[in-house]
Amino acid sequence: MNSRIFLSAPDISGTEERYLVNALRSGWVAPVGPDLDAFEAEVAQRCGTAHAVGVSSGTAALHLALLAMGVGPGDTVIVPTLTFAATANAVVYTGAEPVFVDSEPDTGNIDAALAERAVADLRREGRRVAAVVPVDLFGTCADHESLLKVDVPLLEDAAEALGATRDGRPAGSFGRAAALSFNGNKIITTSGGGMLVTDDAALAERCRHLATQARQPVPHYEHADVGYNYRLSNLLAAVGRAQLSRLDGMLARRRQLRERYAKTFAGVPGVRIVGDGEHGSNCWLTVVAVEERESGWSAEALGEHLARHDIETRPVWKPMHRQPVYRQARSWLTGAADHLFATGLALPSGSQLGDAAQRRVFDAIDEFL
Ligand SMILES: *Cc1c(COP(=O)(O)O)cnc(C)c1O
Repeated sequence: MNSRIFLSAPDISGTEERYLVNALRSGWVAPVGPDLDAFEAEVAQRCGTAHAVGVSSGTAALHLALLAMGVGPGDTVIVPTLTFAATANAVVYTGAEPVFVDSEPDTGNIDAALAERAVADLRREGRRVAAVVPVDLFGTCADHESLLKVDVPLLEDAAEALGATRDGRPAGSFGRAAALSFNGNKIITTSGGGMLVTDDAALAERCRHLATQARQPVPHYEHADVGYNYRLSNLLAAVGRAQLSRLDGMLARRRQLRERYAKTFAGVPGVRIVGDGEHGSNCWLTVVAVEERESGWSAEALGEHLARHDIETRPVWKPMHRQPVYRQARSWLTGAADHLFATGLALPSGSQLGDAAQRRVFDAIDEFL
């Protein structure tokens, strides 16, 4: 009996076990400790930033960064419509209003020219645009260079993008701050966790303070702000350090898988790999877009075929402007995200996929084609 093949499952080895057991035996179980300090320093170095704050999730990192950037009630924040809901939810937590902007057709990343237009339109209406939160979708960096020219503070949602680069610059290094995720299906995992990275010492300190219940450093627990219980635990940081030590190997395997998909679909009319021209991508998820009129079959049909072989696939994120919870939100749209949602399919992309599992995936695709 074959076991199920997942889209992006945790890639765990003896290294993680060793780091975790060592952390347990060290006595630094909770809340903080030397593995957390080291993990922060190592992630900051990888992202090319001066500071990092380990937190309980990528969503928490986004929330704290927005608060520290002064985002609050009455503000608007530009968010790509093609993203996971956490990007928009973090904006709502602050009391601000997410405003959705459509995608570049090729990568699915936020359309920078359209974002600039949305900012101008909102300002003409007298609204304050407090931040733009571009997402490095599926591990391909957004066009931060163009976005940075728009005069709005930038918070990079790099939850999917650890290890990616754009023009030689690492994901996480663009803008005032960036959020990383170490959730179970991300490029590295701590089972659950995230990190805020930034060059801004005061912003990092503010986030660290808010993440620990905004407790003043006095014995009687003085509080001048409403804080959060958002810190990453030392044990999970130990797992993260083990994962990070293996990152380059994991990136190489995801890229190799991407190249195999590219070869498989190269001669197939109407099929392309989303963002395939972007060589700095970390290849977190390989997504194919299928033009049914040219291919004669749909992305959905391929997904159903693979499901019969117990192989998981997934549509791309359902755009936020289509979500019931965000139906009232303002949006600047071109139809590109809707088109990607209708034609896209994410394929198994995990670095833990062994030779036998890969053979099953590619045999099933060959059979379908
Ligand atoms: C995973 C993800 C998040 C949230 O990260 P968590 O660690 O799950 O909270 C935010 N934004 C994007 C784009 C993501 O893919």
